[in-house]
Amino acid sequence: MYIILLGPPGSGTGTQGDILAQRLGVLKIATGDLLRGAVEARTPLGLEAKRHMDRKEMVPDKIILSLIKEQLTSEAAAQGIVMDSFPRTVRQAEAVNQLLAERLERIDRVLLLDVPEAELTQRRLSRAPDEGRGGETAEVIEQRLQAYRHSTAPVVGFYREMGVLSIVDGTGTEEEIAERVKEAVGA
Ligand code: AMP
Repeated sequence: MYIILLGPPGSGTGTQGDILAQRLGVLKIATGDLLRGAVEARTPLGLEAKRHMDRKEMVPDKIILSLIKEQLTSEAAAQGIVMDSFPRTVRQAEAVNQLLAERLERIDRVLLLDVPEAELTQRRLSRAPDEGRGGETAEVIEQRLQAYRHSTAPVVGFYREMGVLSIVDGTGTEEEIAERVKEAVGA
């Protein structure tokens, strides 16, 4: 199965993506993780991406497209993938469709984790610094929410048009949300 989990920063797509990928026995791919890996490995792509990440900007589609192309065409992706928080632009969404079509596959379902913005801000402010992206200021959080509203909200419309979108209540306990996710993908 090819599943996409979308939601604003702090909505829990990472945790739910891990649970779902494990249940389905497929890979979970998050472009944020791939980018951090490339930055750490100091690849040319990573160094270019870092300039944008340091400025809290979206990384340009060109970089994201080459990252996901490698992943989506890999042998490991043949069983399916859970995509966590990407595509984040319509251009990325079109590229994913095209790459899957090349292997005669398609997106089965896109789940949008729905969490009120006030709760998102609270969740991120209270994140422990050892979570990697913890210790964020309210300003940084607002900046990320704005980028999400601007770039990613149109992606939701794209998948609604495709007829594969499900909106999942992203509030409650991890287990409650996982149960709703499970129902929405029918797995
Ligand atoms: P995240 O781990 O999802 O919080 O992503 C960390 C940073 O990586 C974001 O603030 C963006 O700068 C960048 N990023 C991750 N995924 C994407 C994507 N699909 N498109 C553009 N930028 C991305």
